[in-house]
Amino acid sequence: MTDRRAHEGDRPRVLVTGGSVGGPAQAWALQRAGFAVTLVERAPRPREAGQNIDIRDAGHAVLRAMGSATM
Ligand SMILES: Cc1cc2nc3c(=O)[nH]c(=O)nc-3n(C[C@H](O)[C@H](O)[C@H](O)COP(=O)(O)OP(=O)(O)OC[C@H]3O[C@@H](n4cnc5c(N)ncnc54)[C@H](O)[C@@H]3O)c2cc1C
Repeated sequence: MTDRRAHEGDRPRVLVTGGSVGGPAQAWALQRAGFAVTLVERAPRPREAGQNIDIRDAGHAVLRAMGSATM
């Protein structure tokens, strides 16, 4: 088994709680900023139903800044 710490080096570690919309976005940004991120989600599996998230206005600029080619 590979020791994750060998890959994480001396990067500061951070725990992000919640794997819905906000959590992964935060984890993405923190990882890019040099943190070793662990994301946890209490649900046993991804939600397959629920409310849509509306991407409007500033949301387009945010997704472009995150590298989306489709916005
Ligand atoms: C009834 C309703 C209708 C909505 N309709 C719309 C809409 O039409 N369009 C729109 O854009 N937005 C809508 N929203 C808003 C949208 O759902 C939220 O803005 C969005 O889900 C917030 O994302 P989030 O990642 O911050 O939090 P959440 O989506 O609430 O995610 C939090 C996550 O953290 C996890 N979690 C919580 N505690 C723990 C723990 N202790 N350990 C591990 N994991 C944990 C939860 O399981 C969950 O997956 C609606 C919200 C509600 C309630």
